Amino acid sequence: MLMTHTSEPILQGQRALVTGASSGIGATVAKMLAAAGAKVVVNYAGGADRAQAVVDHIQAAGGEALAIRANVHREDEVEAMFAQMFEAWDSIDILVNNAGLQKDAPLVEMSLADWQHVLDVNLTGQFLCSRAAAREFFHRGVVPELSRAAGKIICMSSVHDVIPWAGHANYAASKGGVSLLMKTMAQELAPHRIRVNAISPGAIKTPINSAAWMTPEAEAELLKLIPYRRIGDPEDIGRAVVWLASDASDYVTGATLYVDGGMTLYPGFEQGG
Ligand code: NAD
Repeated sequence: MLMTHTSEPILQGQRALVTGASSGIGATVAKMLAAAGAKVVVNYAGGADRAQAVVDHIQAAGGEALAIRANVHREDEVEAMFAQMFEAWDSIDILVNNAGLQKDAPLVEMSLADWQHVLDVNLTGQFLCSRAAAREFFHRGVVPELSRAAGKIICMSSVHDVIPWAGHANYAASKGGVSLLMKTMAQELAPHRIRVNAISPGAIKTPINSAAWMTPEAEAELLKLIPYRRIGDPEDIGRAVVWLASDASDYVTGATLYVDGGMTLYPGFEQGG
């Protein structure tokens, strides 16, 4: 368990919802929040067995978890998911907007459907879930025994909220949108003691980008873009999420934490410009 100096797990008694938590970063984030003492809703869109495997892992380690199916871009499904969570655990303290996908194509070949679907899941999904969580944080206010904040929202963005990405216009636009959605929510919600931050991962080994690291040749090419010369693991992101969810970061809101081994440091300029 991740402990504070008082030897209490740092998120003891808090209730978290992680979207897209049946694989990759989301699955690891769910497990690490649980290891830090939170009860965790493992949201998934499809593949109930994989979501259940995450729940089983958390329960085997002595934690509490609940798998709930919902497409984050469908308003009725999001509302039903939050209602189910509140019925089980009364409220929410931590939302991790993690669900996301890519549908890549050169601009001139990109279909409207693929443009729209990526914007729907990656951006509208974060809006719908943040709105549902913020309504509950407003309604409930600060519970001092749990946290100094009334609620915490963590938005999974990407280094492509600042690095343009040819062949991925829909994805880059969605993450650029997440960046300003996050800052605007942070500004609007701060007086209500709600903290909103983003994490922008670089290259993390997950199913979303397996083609970029599966073969030694692909991995060598990818490492050229990473000054720290290692590809990230989901745990690198999980540690950042736990910190942003905890009171250890209580004075941090509206921030984007780049967890990217330096990918946003213009590695092309390492040897001069
Ligand atoms: P992943 O494909 O394993 O995870 C994405 C999850 O989102 C999947 O579980 C998928 O089922 C879920 N999802 C897709 N559509 C959904 C919907 N409509 N409703 C609910 N869930 C849905 O990939 P990942 O790398 O773990 O990605 C997690 C997040 O991290 C994404 O937002 C991604 O953009 C971001 N990210 C990943 C990397 C990386 O290198 N892996 C880098 C930057 C950002």
